[in-house]
Amino acid sequence: MKAEIKPVRKIMGRLAKGADLLGALEEQCRLHNITLGEVWAIGAVTKARIGYYKQDIQKYMFLDLDRPMEILTLIGNVSLKDGQPMVHAHVTLSDEEGRAFGGHLAAGAPVFACEFVIQECQSEKVYQRALDEETGLFLWAKE
Ligand code: ZN
Repeated sequence: MKAEIKPVRKIMGRLAKGADLLGALEEQCRLHNITLGEVWAIGAVTKARIGYYKQDIQKYMFLDLDRPMEILTLIGNVSLKDGQPMVHAHVTLSDEEGRAFGGHLAAGAPVFACEFVIQECQSEKVYQRALDEETGLFLWAKE
């Protein structure tokens, strides 16, 4: 089955200072009943936690950036996990010298300021995450 995705509506706004970046994006999805979509954001966080998936041991390793960082780009998607909207996002963050760090966005990044866009989409296919034995990740069903 070819999964055709149709754009529905776009939500644009800012997140509250101090809110957890990932949690606040998921909260926006719940508020607006978005279960499938695309996410973008820019702004700044007071610190961050980013993950790198170690493929050989199938485990996330986390890097804690315990200082203010710019969100150069946050890009991700919204789909369902356990019946709830889940945001999967990757970020590129920069420090005061312009050095960039990037990875899988984890909880633990308090917002300093953040402007986001969520594009809600619609599809006949249900995008529900489930454990994929091959990778150890929670992924969408295979085509
Ligand atoms: Zn990821």
